Parts: sequence; C-alpha cells; structure tokens
Amino acid sequence: MTEKAYAKINLTLDVINRRPDGYHNVKMVMQTIGLCDEVTVELSDEKGIAITSDSPVVPCDESNIAYKAAKIMLDIAGSHSGVRIHIAKRIPVCAGLAGGSTDGAAVFTALNDLLGLKLPKSRLMEISAPVGADIPFCIMGGTALAQGTGTELSSLPSFRENTVLLVKPPINVSTPWAYKNLCLDEVIHPDVDAMVRKLEKQDYTDFYSCMGNVLESVTVPAYPVIADIKKAMLEHGAEFSMMSGSGPTVFGFFKDKAAAEVAGEYFRKKFDEVIITKTV
Ligand code: ATP
Repeated sequence: MTEKAYAKINLTLDVINRRPDGYHNVKMVMQTIGLCDEVTVELSDEKGIAITSDSPVVPCDESNIAYKAAKIMLDIAGSHSGVRIHIAKRIPVCAGLAGGSTDGAAVFTALNDLLGLKLPKSRLMEISAPVGADIPFCIMGGTALAQGTGTELSSLPSFRENTVLLVKPPINVSTPWAYKNLCLDEVIHPDVDAMVRKLEKQDYTDFYSCMGNVLESVTVPAYPVIADIKKAMLEHGAEFSMMSGSGPTVFGFFKDKAAAEVAGEYFRKKFDEVIITKTV
C-alpha cells in the first residue's frame, strides 16, 4: 500500500506558556501542503520492521518515526508479521515541515488497513500523539487549530488554495533549542483567534495581519539567513512570507504559479532546496 504523506506549514504559531513538565502550550493553525513523501508499506513473512529510503539522510533504524508507528500498530494487532516500509523522500529533512511525523502518520493509516484493525481516525490520532506532537495533525490533514502541546486539534474550514514557495537554507535548527530560548515576555503574539474567526467566515481581508510565528524571535537573530530569505521573497513578489514551525524553512504565498516560478528561479541560484507547491 502506498500512501502520500503530506507536509505542513504553520499559518500562525503562538506559544502560550511553559508547562511544569517542560513542554509548552501552543496555539497554532496548521495547514497541509501538496508537497509529499510516498510511503510504501507491506506485510511480509520475514520478521521485524525493515525501513529503506531513497534519501541518505533518513534514518533506517528504530529512530525512524515510521518504525515507531509500525511497532505500535503490530503490538495493538498482536501480529507477529513483518513489515517493510520504503520512504521516497521529497520533503526536506529537519525543515519545520513535519517530514518525519507525516511518514509516521502514513504508516499508522496504512497498517490500520493492512492489519484489518479498522480503528477510527480519532483513535489513530490518540495513539500516535506520544510518538510525536505533529502526527495527529498529519493523520487529520487540511486546516486545523492545534492547542495544548499541539495535539488538541479542531478542524477548521479549509484555507483558500494558495501557491506556496518553500526555501530551506542549509542549516539545522533544533526544535528543543528554539523553545528553550524563547522569551515569552518579549514576543509579539499573533492574533490566532482572529485568524480562526476569519477562516470560519472565509473572510480573507487583512488575513496576513493575523499570521505570525513567535519562534522567529529565536531563530532569526541566530540565523540571519532566515530574515534574508523572508525579505527576498517579498522583494520577488510574495504577498506574505514567514518561517514554518521551528524552521529553518521559509514559505511565501504567491498570486499564482507563474509568480512563484519567478521568485523560485532567483532562490535556486542560491539554495538547493527550493520547492513550489500549494495549500491543500
Ligand atoms: P517538525 O516540523 O515536526 O519539527 P522537521 O520537519 O523539523 O519536523 P523532520 O524532517 O521530521 O524534522 O526530522 C527531524 C529528525 O527526525 C531528523 O533528525 C531525522 O533524523 C528524524 N527522523 C525520524 N524519522 C524520520 C523520517 N521518516 N523522515 C525524516 N526524518 C526522520
């Protein structure tokens, strides 16, 4: 069974407070984009979980989120069958696009079918949350408000289709580092409630004024290239530009594909990972 595993961007990302357990309460709007990995899952007679990928940077051992997902599903089914997983990697790794989480989500969904478990989506979302906070959203897809540690999800009316340009600079940002260095007293909090109201009414007037990502206050001073890309996107025709998740990928919204191609050509001269896609 081959599943398309879609990436996400954050239309807005706010951090409310630090919890006693060290995690943070967030309030964000997540959005699925068309960029996807292809995850092929099959049951086999050989014991164990075997992972392969066409990307040398994807771990093919127990640390792969797809492996963890398969282990949980086999345990729930009480199955001793083997599982073979191949990940055709298209989503940049360590990018803030939930690349690993979405592969995990694809394995939860595929094995639910292959093992005949017939668990409802809501149950899959529940059992996947401890593996990674972004996995329940990747199972759900679309446009959603995420609260708590990011796993309390409410589906929202779909964000309009928008052409998206993604540029990932060649740096790795550690998500725990970004959260640890966040000074909540000093950040400008985006108006997430206003965005939710606008999506509910499908009112796109001043929509971009509700967008913001508080983690930029940590990553931009440490990696000025993120601010440079945001600025260059606006100079090359983007209607709006922001960092996704804890970065370092910057996305921009463009009027249409032709406009995104013009900017894309500029960025391809400077960066290897430049992708044009759309919100879905
Ligand atoms: P998020 O947006 O959820 O924070 P990310 O896009 O920043 O995620 P990933 O691409 O998921 O980051 O990679 C984070 C780490 O997860 C990498 O160090 C990678 O080794 C590990 N990893 C585990 N499974 C996978 C997978 N299936 N694909 C990519 N990376 C994986």
